[in-house]
Amino acid sequence: MDSDRARGVLLGLACGDALGRPVEFKSASAITAEHGRLDEMVGHGTWNQPAGTVTDDTDQARCIAQSLIERRGFDPVDIADRFVAWYDSEPFDIGRMTAKAINRLKHGDAWDEAGRHVWENSPEGENAGNGSVMRCAPLAIPYANDADRLIETSQQSSEITHADPRCTYGCAVLNLTIAGILNGTASPLRNALDRVDPDAPNELMAALEPLACGETPGSLDTSGLRRPFAANSTPRRALCRECRRSDRDGCEPRRRH
Ligand SMILES: [Mg+2]
Repeated sequence: MDSDRARGVLLGLACGDALGRPVEFKSASAITAEHGRLDEMVGHGTWNQPAGTVTDDTDQARCIAQSLIERRGFDPVDIADRFVAWYDSEPFDIGRMTAKAINRLKHGDAWDEAGRHVWENSPEGENAGNGSVMRCAPLAIPYANDADRLIETSQQSSEITHADPRCTYGCAVLNLTIAGILNGTASPLRNALDRVDPDAPNELMAALEPLACGETPGSLDTSGLRRPFAANSTPRRALCRECRRSDRDGCEPRRRH
């Protein structure tokens, strides 16, 4: 593996987190109105922090990365313990589901109980946030050449706080994609989607298929966050069935097959 690319996975996560921190929760149009194209670290804004300050994304990714190193592999019990220690440090930024799950971990739930309990007791629209996918990238480095184990660890690391299949499979797809990039694969997202299919939720696959065909989204629907349930409303492969049979790279953006 190219170690520069591996470092880039971690630095990219941290830099993207810090770049977006001052505009978190703002719409694209509001960000453009205030900053134009935001490509420099700026201070204040959301969370009122100095320029370059990272948030919970990087904090939790660091928990995972340090655990991988010190435990010499994936250890969800150890990662859960590190999440609790971080929670006790009173970070300025922590997601709602993450806080609920870690609070349950702190009071005795096992690593695979807390997130499931929070998920099962959250209504649709508030049960599938991005709190696990935003931190999962470090797993792609040690397991880049073991897709089965990468899928398993990505899903289990999500389940610590986010047990919805849209979250667990979202982590698996992202990390398979990163692994593909680390290994120089030509179509990493395409390969990742093919690898997890047919088990992944329809809603997740339908959202990602256009991206695998080269479409650049002007916007992405929010999933599992204040939106009516639509997990099975879109047929899988509805957007890309034709191009999957022909030249995948030739798929026309926004084409509906
Ligand atoms: Mg954050």
